[in-house]
Amino acid sequence: MVAVSPPAKVLITGANGYLATWVVKMYLDAGYSVRGTVRSQSKSAFSKEKFAHYGDRLELVTVKDITKDGAFDEVIGGVDVIVHMASPFHFKAATPDELITPAVRGTTSILSTALKQGSTLKRFILTSSAVAILEFPWRQRVFTEENWNSAALEAVKTKGPAAGPLNIYLASKTLAERAAWEFVDVHKSEISWDLVVLNPPYIFGPSLSAAPTVDDINTSQREVYDTLVGVRTGKQLQTQAHWVHVTVAAEAHVRAAHAVGAGGQRIIVRSASMYYQEILDAAAELGIPNVPRGEPGSMKDVPYGSVLESTKAEELLGLTQVTPLKDVVAESVEDFKARGYAGFAA
Ligand code: NAP
Repeated sequence: MVAVSPPAKVLITGANGYLATWVVKMYLDAGYSVRGTVRSQSKSAFSKEKFAHYGDRLELVTVKDITKDGAFDEVIGGVDVIVHMASPFHFKAATPDELITPAVRGTTSILSTALKQGSTLKRFILTSSAVAILEFPWRQRVFTEENWNSAALEAVKTKGPAAGPLNIYLASKTLAERAAWEFVDVHKSEISWDLVVLNPPYIFGPSLSAAPTVDDINTSQREVYDTLVGVRTGKQLQTQAHWVHVTVAAEAHVRAAHAVGAGGQRIIVRSASMYYQEILDAAAELGIPNVPRGEPGSMKDVPYGSVLESTKAEELLGLTQVTPLKDVVAESVEDFKARGYAGFAA
């Protein structure tokens, strides 16, 4: 890979999303130019205003349907780096196609354009997910970049829609990432750029994007919100999750552009593990009013069922920052308050 540095141009798909808005900001702060894609011009209004001070280093362009062949043909010219993260992230899908089609076809569509027109392209960064690695059951398992989530694929293959919305999402991310590696392998003699895949678990922390109501917030922030307002109770609070701070996940996307050794790697980017009860414990410690307490301290010394190793992120991207859960809970509550969300209105 030829080294990339500012003022190189970066194409970021789904630029209005929760993670993407942070990634756009961090690339701009680092001196890069950014071309972001959104599904409609109305989706770009908030970022245009928020990032107006970056002037013409930010363009926001419309790509209506990422699943169409040639969808990205008009937007790839002159870019040095592509960050592809537009993909549906929710647990409401009724059928596998609802998520798998945009996840997989969106990925292969932009890769095909990169193959045809990527004369200036040096690196393609795909936002995959730790869910392409982790698979249930988690009990006493250590997961690394060597692992693939075959359980979700099997569930969707054998049960179809009855596999449920969670498995459908997990399968969509796994299949999209597989499709990317296969594409690069098949075309390796024709391409001069390389692929880096980032695999974050749940991303937590404040949002920079437009999310006027609670129903507009993205799925991972919603996990924190729902826990704090008491939607999760009983056994659900004893569930384990892995998470990463949104600024760490975004920084990984910037470092992935210029870390030469990252080429050809999938990289887990994580901050820590937690039980949902620990979100309530952190809120109690912070003195946040009107938050349920669950069973305080009950999960404090319970060993985690799964370990998600992230040594590659440190070696290849130099990511060492550790954020305490308490900090991300405090930041999230501030964000919810500032937005006047129910339960946190000032
Ligand atoms: P988000 O806020 O929901 O953003 C998703 C972005 O993808 C939005 O720009 C959305 O556009 C776009 N998108 C969704 N469905 C689409 C479709 N069918 N066609 C075209 N664009 C579509 O989600 P996020 O949390 O920032 O996630 C961004 C990426 O990170 C996703 O690939 C997700 O799988 C991955 N990821 C997220 C987490 C996490 O915890 N947040 C963890 C691991 C990986 P609209 O606004 O127009 O719908």
